[in-house]
Amino acid sequence: MSEALADLEAQARACTLCALSRSRINAVPGAGDPRARVMIVGEAPGKNEDQQGVPFVGTAGQLLNRLLGAIEIPRSEVYITNIIKCRPPGNRDPLPVEVAACSPFLDRQVALIRPAVILLLGRHAVQRLLPGSDGISRIHGTLVERGDRAYVPLYHPAAALYNGFLVETLEADFRRVRGYIDLVEARRAAASAVTPPDAEQQLSLW
Ligand code: URA
Repeated sequence: MSEALADLEAQARACTLCALSRSRINAVPGAGDPRARVMIVGEAPGKNEDQQGVPFVGTAGQLLNRLLGAIEIPRSEVYITNIIKCRPPGNRDPLPVEVAACSPFLDRQVALIRPAVILLLGRHAVQRLLPGSDGISRIHGTLVERGDRAYVPLYHPAAALYNGFLVETLEADFRRVRGYIDLVEARRAAASAVTPPDAEQQLSLW
């Protein structure tokens, strides 16, 4: 694993920046491939995640595994995290102060991993990484590009467990993800092919 990412995860495990550090069993920094093409951002650890220190290991995680399996993306090849790294008591919504305290961790994870696409699970992840965007019911399953980042807003698997009619929508949205990865990677490759080498690279060519 990348040393910088491992350091960051260790810092998150020891973090005391907000009150959730006093009620958690374990912080849940994130898990997966540090060079993942797909990063998945959920809301917050639940009971199982708090107990194990690993994201998406409960029933929502089982559905997420199935959705990834259906598009032949092994969980071991993605990086999974949440907008906040500690469980809110009783699984309540994250408070703005908690989201703000955890923001540097998430921002740094994205910067270190540089995934082709970031899957945003649920409205909290959408609000955090795509502030000002339309609601999830309008933009789910679309590719949203901001700056040099590409996002796919999706319903949260827990919402689909609660409202069974969302499962098909989630499956259909996941089927689009492979095409989005290919599109973004092809664009990145084309952009780097036309970018002239920077001064340092030129020097090493001479
Ligand atoms: N729900 C989330 O948003 N994240 C988890 O890690 C587990 C359930």
